[in-house]
Amino acid sequence: MMQKGRVLFPGSFDPFTLGHADIVKRVLQMFDEVVIGVGYNEQKSGWMSVEERVGKIRELYADEPRIKVESYTGLTVDFAKIQGISTIVRGIRSVADFEYELQMADVNRQLAGIETVFLPASPQFASLSSSVVRELSHFGHDISAFLP
Ligand code: ADP
Repeated sequence: MMQKGRVLFPGSFDPFTLGHADIVKRVLQMFDEVVIGVGYNEQKSGWMSVEERVGKIRELYADEPRIKVESYTGLTVDFAKIQGISTIVRGIRSVADFEYELQMADVNRQLAGIETVFLPASPQFASLSSSVVRELSHFGHDISAFLP
């Protein structure tokens, strides 16, 4: 079998949506193993606690040995190095995503020699974001249709 290696999929995943799950499914066709890195900020508490986010994603992928879920704080490239991973994957929904991601990818390559692979969002999920899901939930809307 061709060796395809490991990739880090970093994000806040607050919460983990169908759009995130779609990226994970597709990137598994390109790499042997995906580490989902749930990033958190020690100064700010998220909508869901980081433990809750990690727990839910682990539960979702309990039967998939090629997917690992870990939390981290600090720079994504530092976490990637700790994990021994040299490739990051990010989803691109829009030009706005692209502008921001291009800058991040550039910094991460210069800082740590880490390359970023971009996957275009599937059209059916291109408008889906964790922040929209949080907003809908805040106003009492049922959000289950957006979550895996
Ligand atoms: P961050 O705070 O790092 O942007 P997110 O949890 O919002 O974390 O997103 C993590 C990654 O998933 C990002 O690369 C983002 O572009 C991507 N992503 C988010 N929603 C979608 C979606 N609906 N389709 C494809 N990619 C997505």
